[in-house]
Amino acid sequence: MKYILSIDAGTTSSRAILFDKMGQAKATAQHEFPQYFPKESWVEHNATEIWATQLKAIREVIDSEGISIDDIAAMGITNQRETTVIWDRKTGEPVHNAIVWQDRRTASICDELQAEASTFLTKTGLVLDAYFSGTKIKWILDSDPSLRKRADAGELAFGTIDTWLIWNLTEGKVHTTDVTNASRTLIFNIHSLEWDQELLELLNIPVSLLPKVVSSSEIVGETEASVLGKAIPISGIAGDQQAALFGQLCINPGDVKNTYGTGCFCIMNTGEKAVVSHNKMLTTIGWQLNGKITYALEGSVFIAGALIQWLRDQLQIIDAAPEIEALANTVENNGGITFIPALSGLGAPFWDPEATGAIMGITRGTQKGHIARAALEAIALRSRDIIVEMQKDAGVHFANLKVDGGASNNDLLMQLQANILNKAVIRPDTTETTALGAAFFAGLAVGFWKDEAELQTIWKENKSFQPQNDPNTQDCIDLWEKRIPKVLK
Ligand code: ADP
Repeated sequence: MKYILSIDAGTTSSRAILFDKMGQAKATAQHEFPQYFPKESWVEHNATEIWATQLKAIREVIDSEGISIDDIAAMGITNQRETTVIWDRKTGEPVHNAIVWQDRRTASICDELQAEASTFLTKTGLVLDAYFSGTKIKWILDSDPSLRKRADAGELAFGTIDTWLIWNLTEGKVHTTDVTNASRTLIFNIHSLEWDQELLELLNIPVSLLPKVVSSSEIVGETEASVLGKAIPISGIAGDQQAALFGQLCINPGDVKNTYGTGCFCIMNTGEKAVVSHNKMLTTIGWQLNGKITYALEGSVFIAGALIQWLRDQLQIIDAAPEIEALANTVENNGGITFIPALSGLGAPFWDPEATGAIMGITRGTQKGHIARAALEAIALRSRDIIVEMQKDAGVHFANLKVDGGASNNDLLMQLQANILNKAVIRPDTTETTALGAAFFAGLAVGFWKDEAELQTIWKENKSFQPQNDPNTQDCIDLWEKRIPKVLK
């Protein structure tokens, strides 16, 4: 067997990638699907469209030149997390559009349950927020009395996107999710590893709705021959951020990865300990492998690459995001500029939704290059804020930072990050860390790869950035710390 098929079910597109034994992507297919915004702050997907685009992508990679389905050892799935689908067990038809993780319609349900916030936090590691699946399930069932009735009669099934795809791949034979996806639902106890009766009652969710929870790496079933032409074992499942953590081989406590996209997603392996954050970072399950749970801490920065988009679209000092690097390289340092990227408030560790952005330190000598450089520094400094707090929470020291995402291709940003953290920053050879993580989980379960030690022999870096002793670094950190309080309300 030559390949593992990885399914990367993202927020805007469905992708399929075939990885070989060396972890190299051999074939890729991708199809976007529509996003629906029925009301202010509502975001929906049509689950049937997700399945159709996913199936198309899978068939395309299998049909790629030189690929035979007989060469595929197993399939792994990684997915946008928290997005909630409810369907009829008999017909397989969704009863409502999927409510996407970004959707805020259930914020008022969270407000009503505030008195129980600490119960949710203690059991699930999550803050009580509309982001997670629990209140979305409640909203769908409450939206129509007939749905509530059908749910109580055991006629409906809930799933995150992994569960939905596996249901369809197995033609309704398997109703399952893994611990990482379950840990984002607000109804799964991350310590006892069970759906939590008390939380289900608080949200009025019948247990009959819920999938069986399995580990991230085990055979959960096989695809129906009628779907792909052949039965392929499904043997790996993980939510996207957790899959990326594993795909980056952050397998020891303290190992940490940061994804530089529109925002930054930072996640740190905390080993067997479910660390409680003092800064509203989320405690979550990294994965379950060979029976053992690995926990993680997760924090995010709302505005990262989005700051570069703002410079492109609003200020128009660049035409395309990658041009920011050359512009920032036209100057030697930030010229005393600090760019506070609070374009939609400031998250951890400041937690000030009212804060607004600022460009400070402007003089007659200020050039656009200084602003470009300060913007890149801002992304690195916000990431530092998060990572330093995580390190304090976890009580571990990290050796280096693994990076991925669109903006990690910016060498100057990565060098600034290394300087600002005073740690090496390592960019992997593959940019597909999320899909690779799902492939690793699937491959380990079927003996395609023997163990994590073997994975380490195939994992390659593209470039590492060592911290440089640059006098500008401390100046920029000092200015940041002095100026941040000025934007807090
Ligand atoms: P997402 O998955 O959130 O859509 P991507 O990983 O595709 O994000 O990265 C796109 C983001 O990264 C955009 O916000 C863009 O402005 C930023 N970006 C892309 N390339 C660069 C670059 N070379 N330097 C800085 N930012 C970049």
